[in-house]
Amino acid sequence: MRIVPGATSDIGKVREGNEDSYLALDPLFAVADGMGGHRGGEVASKLALEILENQFRRRQGALAEHVQEANLAVFERSQLDRRVAGMGTTLTVAVMEDERVRLAHVGDSRAYLYRDGELRLLTEDHTLVQRMVDEGEITAGEAETHPYRSVLTRALGVEQSVAVDEGSLEVQDGDRLLLCTDGLTGMVTDEQIRAILQDVGDPQEAADRLVRAANRAGGIDNITAVVLDFEAGEKDDEAGTQGQGVAEPAASAISGAQGPRGLRSRGIRPARLAVSVGMPLAIFIVVLVGLRLYLDRQWYVGVQNGHVTEFRGIPSEVAGFELHHPVVVTTIPAVDAERLAVYAHLDEGIPATGREDADSIVEQIRTDLGTSRTGVP
Ligand code: MN
Repeated sequence: MRIVPGATSDIGKVREGNEDSYLALDPLFAVADGMGGHRGGEVASKLALEILENQFRRRQGALAEHVQEANLAVFERSQLDRRVAGMGTTLTVAVMEDERVRLAHVGDSRAYLYRDGELRLLTEDHTLVQRMVDEGEITAGEAETHPYRSVLTRALGVEQSVAVDEGSLEVQDGDRLLLCTDGLTGMVTDEQIRAILQDVGDPQEAADRLVRAANRAGGIDNITAVVLDFEAGEKDDEAGTQGQGVAEPAASAISGAQGPRGLRSRGIRPARLAVSVGMPLAIFIVVLVGLRLYLDRQWYVGVQNGHVTEFRGIPSEVAGFELHHPVVVTTIPAVDAERLAVYAHLDEGIPATGREDADSIVEQIRTDLGTSRTGVP
């Protein structure tokens, strides 16, 4: 199978820098969406791809191990350099191996397969809202516009190790694979993506068109699209790079144009690919710790032990973990407030922009109830 790639990354219409990065070095393709402030985001996504590429060229170990190395590198850099402390990145990787594409994925960038006029999402977003959808708390439609839709539950470089999703699929002549960041999928519907992949024959032109569509829809984030067209047939340099049990290829022989295609398949032991397929509880807790910074800035007014209460965090729980804690439990009985139509859904939480806003919402509730309970224990 031969790959014809197209790739574009664009700053978008609103951001001041581009924190997305991509790699298109046949047979290795990847997108990464950095986070953690200007500098941090850019460093994280670039560093992750740099390490991934280096690891890949060594031709040792499985793809998930390369991703772990990239994770560790980003994590260690963020520990050492204050200016990029707390940075992280998404990473979605595709590696071509003969007739198969191997995928590894962390975060909310995505991989799609376009085949026979249909678009299929191959990855799962590691976001809070996706988790809420999985648990039936909100619908997929609500997730699209949810205020917390960009909160990640997993990212590269945030902790010492990361759970990596893996998969592989057999590709056919005529298939198209799309790797993209959320700057595309947050602005453009799957149907629009499908239509562009259907209409635009040239992969580079298709990538450009996808980016243009996202910009036309507002371009509020950096946008990256890598489009891979699969065509039956051998690659031109197949004979040249197919070493025969050569243990140590000269580094100079491996350029982007003639990558180490085919050589890796022999080194892969399927058993090792089981790394982190499940999500151990410990890692999940660690991810929640990563969320804490975000949650600490969120406030809302809700109900605790039957009383109107100011909370820090968001009114949700994930797999039994509450994403909030009470800060001020007032003396106002929640049932009194809920009798008023505007507070009927108090138990679901009224969002506040900060502590002061939460205070003023409570004051408003007191006023609306026509009571002044200050001083009552
Ligand atoms: Mn993004």
